[in-house]
Amino acid sequence: MNDLLPDEAERWEAFEEIVRDWLKSYGYRPIRTPIVEPTALFVRGVGEHTDIVEKEMYSFEDRLNGEQLTLRPEGTAPCVRAVTEHNMLFGQAQRLYYSGPMFRHERPQKGRYRQFHQFGVEALGFAGPDVDAEHIVMCARLWDDLGLEDVSLEINSLGDAAERATHRAELIAYLQKHEASLDEDGKRRLLTNPLRVLDTKNPALQGMVDGAPKLMDFLGEESLKHYEGVTALLREACVPHKLNTRLVRGLDYYNRTVFEWTTTRLGSQATICAGGRYDTLIESLGGKPAPACGFGMGIERVMLLWAEGMEEGPLSRPDVYIVHQGEAASRLAFRVAEEVRSAGVAAIYHCGGGNFKSQMKKADASGAAFAIVIGDDEVAAEAVMLKPLREQDGQRVEQRKVPLADLAPTLANQLYGIEDN
Ligand code: ATP
Ligand code: MG
Repeated sequence: MNDLLPDEAERWEAFEEIVRDWLKSYGYRPIRTPIVEPTALFVRGVGEHTDIVEKEMYSFEDRLNGEQLTLRPEGTAPCVRAVTEHNMLFGQAQRLYYSGPMFRHERPQKGRYRQFHQFGVEALGFAGPDVDAEHIVMCARLWDDLGLEDVSLEINSLGDAAERATHRAELIAYLQKHEASLDEDGKRRLLTNPLRVLDTKNPALQGMVDGAPKLMDFLGEESLKHYEGVTALLREACVPHKLNTRLVRGLDYYNRTVFEWTTTRLGSQATICAGGRYDTLIESLGGKPAPACGFGMGIERVMLLWAEGMEEGPLSRPDVYIVHQGEAASRLAFRVAEEVRSAGVAAIYHCGGGNFKSQMKKADASGAAFAIVIGDDEVAAEAVMLKPLREQDGQRVEQRKVPLADLAPTLANQLYGIEDN
C-alpha cells in the first residue's frame, strides 16, 4: 500500500482531471459506493473459484454484529448492487463511472499493490455491440489524450452460458488428457474453473494451452453477430485490435465481449485496462435481468506509463508569496493575502517570523512569480512592494511600489494579462 507524496499526488490529480473531462465527453456520470461490502456480494459477483475470492480478499467479521465484510477488491459488483438497490434501471439505462481504492492481497511488485486504484466505467441496460465498441474506443481516445504509446488491444468473445458449457466439456476432456503436464494451479482449476487454465502465465504450459479447444469455435449465430458488430465499429473508428482466443479474464461474470489493453513497458503487470460484457450479473445479484458491460483501469499502472517522461518537482506554484515584518505590517499582510485571494490570486502568507532576508529565501523557494513585501514604510504609505521573483521575457524586472487599492488589478494584469477598466 502506497503513500502518495505531494509531487506524485499532484500528478494523480492532474490525471484525474483529464479522466473526468474524458468521461463527461462520453456522457458518463459518477457513482460512489462504500469501500466495505458484505463478503457474499463478491463471492456471488466475482465468482467463488476466482483468484480474487479464493485468495485475495481482505475479509473480516464485524465485531459488533458478526457480519462478514470485505474491503472491495473490484468496483463492478458494488456498482451493480447500488444500481439495483436504488432501482436505477427502472425504464432507463445508465452510463456510470466510479473511482477509488481497491484491495487485493497479492504479492506486491512494480505495478501490483495490495491497495490500488481504479477508474471503472459501467454501461447498464444496453444490449447492443455499439456500447461495447464505445468502451473500447473511449479507452483509445484516453491513451491518445495522455500521449501513451505502446498500448495495444486484445479482444475475444466468451459466448453465452450454453456455448461456454459445450466448450467447457471439451476443454475439460482435453485438459484431462494433458493432466500430467499441468501445474498445481492448473490441476486445481481443471474442474472448478477450466477456462482460467487457458490464461496461465506459466511458460511451460503455453504449447499445451495453445492446442486447447477455442471458445471462438463454439460460438452460435447470435454471439458471432455480436462479436462482428463490435469489431466492425472498431474498424469504423480505426482502432486496431487483435483477436486473442485465450483471453478469458479473471472474473467470472463476463460473457461475449472481453478485452484488455496491454503495454510492453510494465513487465508482467502488462494489463492497464480490462473489461467486457456481463449480461447475467445484474440478475444474479438480485436485480431485474438487464444486459451491461464495462471496464476497469489500473491507475497506478497508467501513471507509471504517463509519468515516465515527466519532469520532477511541484506542478502547482503560488502566484505570490507575502513577506512582512512588524506587528502592523503583519496584520496588513494577512488582510492583503485574503484580498488578493478574493481576486483569484494564489497567495502564500509567510508564517513563522524571521527577517526579510530569510523570508525572501522562502519566497524564492516557493516558486511564486512575485513577492509582496510589507514593512512599516508600506503600512505608512498604504502600499506594498511588488517584487518579481522571475525574469520576464529574459529581463530582470525591478520591484515597484503599488498602492493597496491597485494591488489586485495590477496582479491580475501581471499574472493573467487582464487589463483593469
Ligand atoms: P492482473 O491479471 O494483472 O492481476 P486482473 O485481471 O486481476 O489483473 P482486473 O480485475 O481486471 O485485473 O482489474 C482491472 C485493472 O486493474 C487491471 O487491468 C490492472 O490494470 C489493475 N489492477 C488489478 N490488480 C491490481 C493490483 N494488485 N495492483 C495494481 N493494479 C491492479
Ligand atoms: Mg489479478
